[in-house]
Amino acid sequence: MGRNWADLPPELLGLCSQDLCPNDLSAFRAVCHTWRSAAVEESSDVPWLMLGDKTGERCREFFCLPCQRIHKKLLPQVKETTCFSSRGWVLTIGRDWELHMLKNPMSRHSHIIKLPNLEKLPDAEVEDLLMHHHAYGYGDIIVKFVLSDSPTASVDYRVMVIFNGHNSGQLGLWKPGDKEWTEVITPDSFNLDVIFYEGCFYALNDVGDILRCNAYGPTPFKAKRVFTMPRELMGWEQMYLVQSTTGSLLVVLRQGQWVVSRQGQYKSGGTFEFHVFEINLKTKSWKGVKTLKNTSLFLGRNSSFPLEVDEKHHIKPNCIYFTDDFLDISPYTKDGEGDDMGIYHLEDGTIEPHFQGKSCSPHSPPIWIEPNF
Ligand SMILES: [Zn+2]
Repeated sequence: MGRNWADLPPELLGLCSQDLCPNDLSAFRAVCHTWRSAAVEESSDVPWLMLGDKTGERCREFFCLPCQRIHKKLLPQVKETTCFSSRGWVLTIGRDWELHMLKNPMSRHSHIIKLPNLEKLPDAEVEDLLMHHHAYGYGDIIVKFVLSDSPTASVDYRVMVIFNGHNSGQLGLWKPGDKEWTEVITPDSFNLDVIFYEGCFYALNDVGDILRCNAYGPTPFKAKRVFTMPRELMGWEQMYLVQSTTGSLLVVLRQGQWVVSRQGQYKSGGTFEFHVFEINLKTKSWKGVKTLKNTSLFLGRNSSFPLEVDEKHHIKPNCIYFTDDFLDISPYTKDGEGDDMGIYHLEDGTIEPHFQGKSCSPHSPPIWIEPNF
């Protein structure tokens, strides 16, 4: 009688903590010193699905794959912002055009970094666009956000964004201390995705060029073409660059992301197909990838990442976990975007949901967030 919970044997506490999802583990470790020291470390690399923004709510909902539940977090910083994510950090674009990076919003140890705002993007037309989109505040000015490294892991990190100015899909680069974004000059085409890979940023544009930008070299404002995708692989609605768990560069093609409705509006039609290719930049060659073996890829408005399968945490092998990546800011889509999500099985081309509910937002649909403890 009267036995203290803190007196439970450390082995038992350790066992109890083993199968907890990151959220419950964090709560477990917060109970007391004994529980903290007995529990396994918070080191899960299972991503969270940050659900769409609900107007007026200071809390944000996160869908947790391991426990299949929704965890709510008080996050006034992301309220009514448009969000992107990279390496566990969330980029928020506010209605006041301000940009912030927020570390690991699901953890108790959050950290915020302010970036130059949208008006500091290297394009005079951005301001016009901002005025034009005044009803939304931020419009779809930024479409991708990629970190070279987590700012808590390296002080000499870089931030790359894909933004829409006088041309769609331009590249903007920032490093700590800069007062504004630097334009990265690329061939006159629409950049669809960007990745930090083997020390450089690589962008993929809509004509299939892979461009390299050495953000740490003497000409960080230039991107050079290093590969061109074969013509027969073009014509896809969305393309992604992902680094595989073995270090190779993958191009992922996505089809069915949107269709044109009868009213002539673009509307999400539902993704039905993916293809994966491995690119060898040294030999300038490519090959189709039939299986991802024991890894899966996480794609969407986040910077893409691979993950090794984790049966304990319900991550399936050889799959593509995708979220809606099409933001239609027209007033015709009242609910907003977000419903084109699922798990694509590379083996047989079937798709199943990862989140059973509905989560749409006109400005901030669901995104994957990598944990970063
Ligand atoms: Zn959970």
